[in-house]
Amino acid sequence: MSAPARAACVVGWPVAHSRSPLIHNYWLKRYGIAGEYRREAVPPEQFADFARALAARGYVGANVTVPHKAAALAASQPDERARAVGAANTLWLDRGVLRATNTDVEGFLDNLDACTPQWDRGLGKAVVLGAGGAARGVICGLIGRGVAHVTVVNRTRRRAEVLRRRFGKAVHPVDWADTSVLADAGLLVNATTLGMAGQPELPLDVRPLPGHAVVAELVYVPLVTPLLRAARARGLRTADGLGMLMYQAVRGFALWFGRVPEVTAELRALLEADLGASADQAGGIT
Ligand code: NAP
Repeated sequence: MSAPARAACVVGWPVAHSRSPLIHNYWLKRYGIAGEYRREAVPPEQFADFARALAARGYVGANVTVPHKAAALAASQPDERARAVGAANTLWLDRGVLRATNTDVEGFLDNLDACTPQWDRGLGKAVVLGAGGAARGVICGLIGRGVAHVTVVNRTRRRAEVLRRRFGKAVHPVDWADTSVLADAGLLVNATTLGMAGQPELPLDVRPLPGHAVVAELVYVPLVTPLLRAARARGLRTADGLGMLMYQAVRGFALWFGRVPEVTAELRALLEADLGASADQAGGIT
């Protein structure tokens, strides 16, 4: 007798524009696994009950997206990484215990490794724009990789100061208008929502960056943001937000369906086609 089909889902509010079903259902089909991956629209006041009843609903785990990432931490046994970031995006049942992690961290790092090999070799300073949830994952990843100096530039400086308290003295908050930090940056990361469809453009001139600098973008709608376009025009190496989106999905799939999936050109093409088809819609939700 074959094993019963496993099911996972993405939980958000709203959740209709999540691309996670496209990614996981692509892998299920590719590996011939009899599983299912669905969307679950769950309002904030019902999230804790939903998480508690995950197994009863027939799920072996879930992705968690906006606005539930902090609530997911409280509703589960989070690992060290999710605790460090202060948010969880992946849940799984481990012999009846609901566990959680944050895979944005490895999604960010694995994508950089794939697109811009040796980006961290001799890296002195990194500059992270933004201090929201995504920036926390990025900073956690950079410090974990041994980057000793992470400048955090955020519109609301107080939020950057909070990250220094969370992650320690490797984090250096500076004012939003202070672009002098670009001159010796080996890595620039946009972890704000600026540049995303429907949002203002990121008002940043990449010319002061050194020629060896790598530019990483988290926004993936549009696929090529003005920041990426400017960096490429300058001949800088880049990593885009769609790459991170694909790599952050790998561990959830492995935990739920028992196979480490591959990030393929075919998967990327599928997502690009989907994003192209809804280019006029503001996306950005995993
Ligand atoms: P968030 O928690 O809401 O943080 C938003 C950040 O953008 C804050 O630092 C905010 O600054 C800044 N910001 C917003 N509007 C601004 C403006 N007009 N001028 C200057 N700064 C502004 O959002 P998040 O969850 O961190 O997500 C950030 C981006 O990362 C989104 O585009 C999201 O789609 C993307 N993301 C991508 C992936 C992926 O896999 N590629 C994964 C996660 C997130 P203040 O603190 O001053 O408000």
